[in-house]
Amino acid sequence: MTFSAVIVAAGASLRAGPGVPKPWRNLGGRPVLDWSARALSGAGARRLVVVTTADRIDAARALLSDLPDLSVVEGGATRSLSVRAGLAALDGPPDEPVLVHDAARPFLSGEVIGRVLEALATADGALAALPVADSLRCGEDHVTGSVDREGLWRAQTPQAFRRHALVRAFDAWSGPEPTDEAAVMAATGARIALVRGDPRLFKLTWPEDFEMAESLARPAREVRMGQGIDAHRWGPGDGVWLCGVRIPHDAALVGHSDADAGLHALTDALLGAIGEGDIGQHFPPSDLRWKGEPSATFLAHAGALVGARGGRILSLDLTLVCERPKVSPHREAMRMSVATILGIDVSRVSIKATTTEGMGYTGRQEGLLAQAVAAVELPSA
Ligand code: MG
Repeated sequence: MTFSAVIVAAGASLRAGPGVPKPWRNLGGRPVLDWSARALSGAGARRLVVVTTADRIDAARALLSDLPDLSVVEGGATRSLSVRAGLAALDGPPDEPVLVHDAARPFLSGEVIGRVLEALATADGALAALPVADSLRCGEDHVTGSVDREGLWRAQTPQAFRRHALVRAFDAWSGPEPTDEAAVMAATGARIALVRGDPRLFKLTWPEDFEMAESLARPAREVRMGQGIDAHRWGPGDGVWLCGVRIPHDAALVGHSDADAGLHALTDALLGAIGEGDIGQHFPPSDLRWKGEPSATFLAHAGALVGARGGRILSLDLTLVCERPKVSPHREAMRMSVATILGIDVSRVSIKATTTEGMGYTGRQEGLLAQAVAAVELPSA
């Protein structure tokens, strides 16, 4: 079944406080209007009409320019005049379902769209609504009475009707400004189905509603893990770089860069967590630019890649495996060094050390091994 949709985005937004009108406020990085327009288009609307104020027509066209079959028209002084302007911009079969939706209800799901369309098969109209759950009381500053909530519903949008039937109902309407289209249709004797709405379809009305919406709009996050291993050979020298800290020693680690195995393992762990290959891909040993390069460059690069993905580093855990030098006197300096390179709190950095009790290449002091694990939080893919 094809359907069209009218989004009403022409209100003055007086109750929402000062600033730009509600449909144009930023919500999760895009205008409020964008949310429901893309929901309706994504659900298969054959034609989408956005009704807005004259000064926002160009902006609406630019915002939604990638949506097929979009019209943007100027609204009227009242909601019903705006809806009528939207209906006038529609064409197609007269009995095609048309969904009327408030731009100020951004969290419109395909499920709700499907439910109101489905209900139209057996009714003259359909209204997304929720049963009233709270007790209802009357009064100004103290209770003077109560209202039985039984059989009461909170009307939401979208509301669905056959196009010509809705146009005719508006033509016949002679009452005061109606609160919604269901009221106009009901006045003609039409049967309007109550369809289960969605608590997330609340209308952005008061300033505090935007705070709640912003928390709903925040993209889902997920945790990714990565691990990194590096080893370097001991050679002649008088000190070693470990985690960006220079430690006096009777040997040095041999390598293309500063041979800081600790920072290399951490870099690989971060790259692993975001699926970005390994340190050799980003900084090929064959590239002379990286000869003698402080390894802080590599770790900072991996940290920047996490940041560019909208991610953040949750924790880093590094183990250094060597008989000598003793790591513990330098542990706090190393943690601080790593935290500083990455711009994270030192509490997120763990540095541990162990020996292999004389066994293997670390035990024979042929080389030092570093092993790291990183946990990174990223926007869900
Ligand atoms: Mg290395």
